[in-house]
Amino acid sequence: MLNPELPEVPRGRGIFCNRTLNMRSVQAIGYDMDYTLVDYRVDAFERMVYAQAQQRLASEGWPMEGLDFDARMVTRGLVIDTELGNLVKANRFGFVKRAMHGTRMLEFSEQREAYAQTLVDLSDPRWIFLNTLFSLSEGCLYAQAVDLMDRGALPRPFEYASLYRHVRARVDAQHLEGHLKAEIASAPDRYAVQDPEAAQALLDQKNAGKKLLLITNSEWSFTARMMAHAYDRHLPGDMTWRQLFDLVIVSARKPAFFTEYSPFFEVVDESGLLRPLVGPLQPGGMYLGGSAAQVERDLGFSGDEILYVGDHMFGDVHVSKRTLSWRTALVLRELEAEVLALEGYRPTEVRLMALMREKETLEARLSRARLVLQRLFGLGSSTGEEAVAEARVHDLRNQLVALDAEIAPLAKAGTELTNERWGLLTRAGNDKSHLTRQIERYADIYTSRVSNFLHATPYAYFRSPRGNLPHDPAGSRD
Ligand code: IMP
Ligand code: MG
Repeated sequence: MLNPELPEVPRGRGIFCNRTLNMRSVQAIGYDMDYTLVDYRVDAFERMVYAQAQQRLASEGWPMEGLDFDARMVTRGLVIDTELGNLVKANRFGFVKRAMHGTRMLEFSEQREAYAQTLVDLSDPRWIFLNTLFSLSEGCLYAQAVDLMDRGALPRPFEYASLYRHVRARVDAQHLEGHLKAEIASAPDRYAVQDPEAAQALLDQKNAGKKLLLITNSEWSFTARMMAHAYDRHLPGDMTWRQLFDLVIVSARKPAFFTEYSPFFEVVDESGLLRPLVGPLQPGGMYLGGSAAQVERDLGFSGDEILYVGDHMFGDVHVSKRTLSWRTALVLRELEAEVLALEGYRPTEVRLMALMREKETLEARLSRARLVLQRLFGLGSSTGEEAVAEARVHDLRNQLVALDAEIAPLAKAGTELTNERWGLLTRAGNDKSHLTRQIERYADIYTSRVSNFLHATPYAYFRSPRGNLPHDPAGSRD
């Protein structure tokens, strides 16, 4: 029996809300599969994609020996600048806060020179946003390729943009050519993580009357293999993953699935045999392709009656929100480490905030002291007070220098949490990151994994925070 008392849930396993969402009003919940319903070991998965793309590039004469996948070199939410061969981290306004050329972090002055006049604007094809954990191999390989290009080590000429397209095509091919999926399907435990609570969370939602949909870009055979691996053993009796879902849609071609109209095919048997769908989608059916518009029509639900849960910032969350106004949930696996790091940093942060308040007071005093001096000099005649005022300015400056020396290491530690190069995914310097801005805009809720819905229950009411403004009264901030 389920204990009716509230369980202790670690903060990192919470469901965080940007826009109020009442789960009781949600009629259907659509789930993405890869990195959403099925969680992968990022290092193993991306290392393999990397290795296969690396092999392919080596066969084209690229000097790839000695290069290796480094899961910490790039993070989700970074942006590739295909014009300059850089990876950059931008804040919510698009200002670049850190940059790496090839695999070398830029000095502040270099970064300023490159980006003082430039805002990251994702509608410009110059910028490639790293939307998901699948982007890590591509980001790492591109950074290393830029180093090779700069050294003149590539067998033919490239520009940074054509270099990106080349690397992208090689990584893309690994996902499409089948070796990758065959390897994962043959040893799923090596690549996928088991999360028994996810099965129970879905079962609870289904039994609460929600229609569950699986909408994945993966092909049928891979989907069937991975879903059976991740879910069947955790479901009661003979139940399989198939019985959890009212609709299963594979090879969905998101984001086009949300924006265009394509026909559905019915997956007729376990081997994946297809026939064109005639008539409406049937409950319990398995389909390929299609469109969200037809799902809405045949299910009889639309817009805010459907919650879609996925890990791809653009393909799952941004487009379903923008095009169809579905309710949206982003799965951000890195959030657990991020919350832990923030909790560990908290005592330092409290100290830092106290020092910053001290600094603000000193700065205000210094401004005032300088103004006093300015006015004294403005009088033209010497009153004898100048020397005292000058000494005061001097003294305040010295105090500020000492304070800055105390602040600097604490602030630096804050910018290196979870990743020495890039810091937290959700922050950029003191501000929100570009990724956070997108999460705020497009994801109604966000959480580290699907099983976090278990503790929230299908009856949860997620309320958005009041939101801070710079002019809020002191002490009233969340
Ligand atoms: P979903 O997250 O369940 O919609 O599925 C993601 C699918 O996209 C998986 O089958 C991945 O192998 C595939 N995928 C991820 N990155 C790429 C890529 O760069 N090119 C082509 N397919 C990709
Ligand atoms: Mg996915």
